[in-house]
Amino acid sequence: MRSSSYAQALPRKDQQRLRRLTARFLRTKSFEGANGFSINKSMRVRIALHASLPVLNLGLEYYDDWISIVIYPGDFRVQDEHMDEYGVVHPEIMDLCGQSLSQGPIVLSWEAIREEAVAPADHDLVIHECAHKLDMLNGAANGFPPLHSGMDARAWARDFHDAYRRLCTALDSRDRYRLDPYAAEDPAEFFAVLSETFFTAPHYVREDFSAVYDHLQRFYRQDPDSVIHRTKS
Ligand SMILES: [Zn+2]
Repeated sequence: MRSSSYAQALPRKDQQRLRRLTARFLRTKSFEGANGFSINKSMRVRIALHASLPVLNLGLEYYDDWISIVIYPGDFRVQDEHMDEYGVVHPEIMDLCGQSLSQGPIVLSWEAIREEAVAPADHDLVIHECAHKLDMLNGAANGFPPLHSGMDARAWARDFHDAYRRLCTALDSRDRYRLDPYAAEDPAEFFAVLSETFFTAPHYVREDFSAVYDHLQRFYRQDPDSVIHRTKS
């Protein structure tokens, strides 16, 4: 079973908890291949492991409002619509590698997950889509998931907004952050990309968006950068 360098750096007792959570995830969620795609056990385990990591200290209950994961062999086509500046709605056809439907399944491209496994980088499609699901727990995805008691909602909004504007300005001026530029799409994608990077390359987030790192650390109740750092030193 392949897992992220953060998952591998976790203390033994946390790795055991992660394995138990992964087993529960496999028991409680359903996996469906789309277009006749056949899903084997190692695919299910890989997806379950990555989906379980963000909720390791939150609990699987955070995923209670959805049960299905639909897996396409590669990118899949969806029909969407977008509103132009005059308020006119246009149909739009898009090819996606992942999608989280509110009150519906998570949809994934196996090809995209397989590519991550071959060349591990700062991308994690499963965590990205699970972050959207967490964001949707209190309504439409907007980069503002339900915070725990004691967390400062105004500080979250202010710091995420500042970081988002900083990223957008930097992209306009071709000044590059290490974060996937897709994060500049909208605040929901910003939260999802930051979440996947928080677990895959946490130092990017801590060094470039330190206030946001602190909020994510409180929200996920995990500190991946310190865990990775501790095992390296
Ligand atoms: Zn997304």
